[in-house]
Amino acid sequence: MSEYFHSVRLDEEKCKGCTNCIKHCPTEAIRVRKGRARIIEERCIDCGECIRVCPNQAKVAITDDLDSIKKYRYSIALPAPSFYGQFKPELTPEIVHAGLIALGFDSVFPVALAAEAVSRAIRNYLEQQRERPRPLISSACPAVVRLVQVRFPSLLEHIIPLVSPMEIAGRVAREAAHRQTGFGPEEIGVFFLTPCPAKVTEVKQPAGDSSSVDGAISMSVVYGNLLRMMDNLNTASLSPVVSGIGIGWGRAGGENEAIKTGSLLAVDGIHCVISVLEEIERGGLEDIDYLEAQACTGGCIGGCLVPQNPFVARVRMGNLARSRQRVESGHMFPAELDYYCRKSPVPARPALKLADDPALALMRLEEAEKIVAELPGLDCGSCGSPSCRALAEDIVQGYARRSYCIFELRRRLQQLAEEIVELAQKQPPAMGREWSPARDEGEEHD
Ligand code: SF4
Ligand code: SF4
Repeated sequence: MSEYFHSVRLDEEKCKGCTNCIKHCPTEAIRVRKGRARIIEERCIDCGECIRVCPNQAKVAITDDLDSIKKYRYSIALPAPSFYGQFKPELTPEIVHAGLIALGFDSVFPVALAAEAVSRAIRNYLEQQRERPRPLISSACPAVVRLVQVRFPSLLEHIIPLVSPMEIAGRVAREAAHRQTGFGPEEIGVFFLTPCPAKVTEVKQPAGDSSSVDGAISMSVVYGNLLRMMDNLNTASLSPVVSGIGIGWGRAGGENEAIKTGSLLAVDGIHCVISVLEEIERGGLEDIDYLEAQACTGGCIGGCLVPQNPFVARVRMGNLARSRQRVESGHMFPAELDYYCRKSPVPARPALKLADDPALALMRLEEAEKIVAELPGLDCGSCGSPSCRALAEDIVQGYARRSYCIFELRRRLQQLAEEIVELAQKQPPAMGREWSPARDEGEEHD
């Protein structure tokens, strides 16, 4: 069995080997071989980019289904802040919560509440820990954390050692349900309504600490089920329970708006995140205190399991956040910073190195450089690797051959054709050709 869990999988039946996905993967985790895409498990960060770009819907995200909540005596829904932006303004967060209860959950605990509390914890951490390397990087987006593990392990010490709002929400919700119902913690099922596959993987195989959440259900699936029952809900007596500060986390820039201290930078979209991380590696952003980084363009409203157009969701969430600036909801969360700290550091997962042994890795690097210089440099992807450099690295590791390059293959075919033509022109003297010493014609004896 694989040591990695991944929410993002390939549907082999649908894959046509078109190579569209290989160039978009931020960790070069996809190869096309024998007409099908293959995901290199140790490299995949479950960012969902390949799901977005596959024209054949051959990349899918595996999530828990709604029936999973029946395995528990008591089930809690944790809607992500971005969930509220999916609905028209008249369907307020409180009405959405009522819908989730009607759908079968026993209670609802908004992650936005925890986001507000985590914002305070980040603010305190930034003010107290001034000697920590700058900028500190948000730990909220699991795809970004995994990107750092795989591609930027030297930046791991920059990841703020605080857990995400989803984890705090899961922990506080379970503790509260245990107190209220008397059910044991294992009888209580906590389910995150997820905008993305990265959060599913974070729940199933967390990077470091264990997760306080039991499952992750696709936001799109829940949204479809909710809309079907909204008309029959009694929503007369609902008062606002979710604050604008926490809701803001669902879109790019919202986390920084909630932190409000120091010099803050926000970046969204995995390839833009990579540019900023490269700049941090070069030591160019030490004047920044904190980096909010989200793999999806626009933040979680741009996640690939989100049903609504992200531009529409962004406007709705902005309006919602502004209309709820006065709702204060963080009183049930502990104030001590310790409560929010990770127990274990995020480990490195340097899956891009050419060999474990440094001497061998160096040798392979030199060899790969030579091969790159001989390849056409077109990065066409026809070889099934994302770039000429990636093909060269695959070759030195024994995963590919030079003949995978169609230009190399054409060159060799031409060479072979020329040799065949040359050979065809040669006839032994016994077959009627006028004899002369071969050396007089500049030929070798053959
Ligand atoms: S989910 Fe992201 S990292 Fe994984 S294969 Fe797809 S594009 Fe690459
Ligand atoms: S930005 Fe949000 S939706 Fe996108 S991968 Fe990160 S956590 Fe998931």
